[in-house]
Amino acid sequence: MGVLAPNPSVITKSEKTGHALEINEVMCKGCTICVEICPKLCLEMVDVINRWEGAVVRVKDIDACIACYLCEHECPDFAILVHAAPKAKKKGVEA
Ligand code: SF4
Ligand code: SF4
Repeated sequence: MGVLAPNPSVITKSEKTGHALEINEVMCKGCTICVEICPKLCLEMVDVINRWEGAVVRVKDIDACIACYLCEHECPDFAILVHAAPKAKKKGVEA
């Protein structure tokens, strides 16, 4: 169990996919909804002793994230933002 200095904007970006997750550790109440709903098991809870909630969410595997937005939509406290990678331009298509 660790000690947390809550950060309102922890951004984790995948170099592989370009998708990023932004977690507001101040807003997170440790309910685990996002961990349970993520279809790719990207998230995990981390125990902390200096929060009444007892835990906050952390990114476990950003490379597995498919930017489906489920975690962002289901979080009751607006503590997760999904930043999907810009779509790659199609090659060989004239403007
Ligand atoms: S759903 Fe929101 S409040 Fe609940 S653990 Fe995830 S980020 Fe935290
Ligand atoms: S956007 Fe989808 S895949 Fe990515 S962490 Fe959230 S629920 Fe999981």
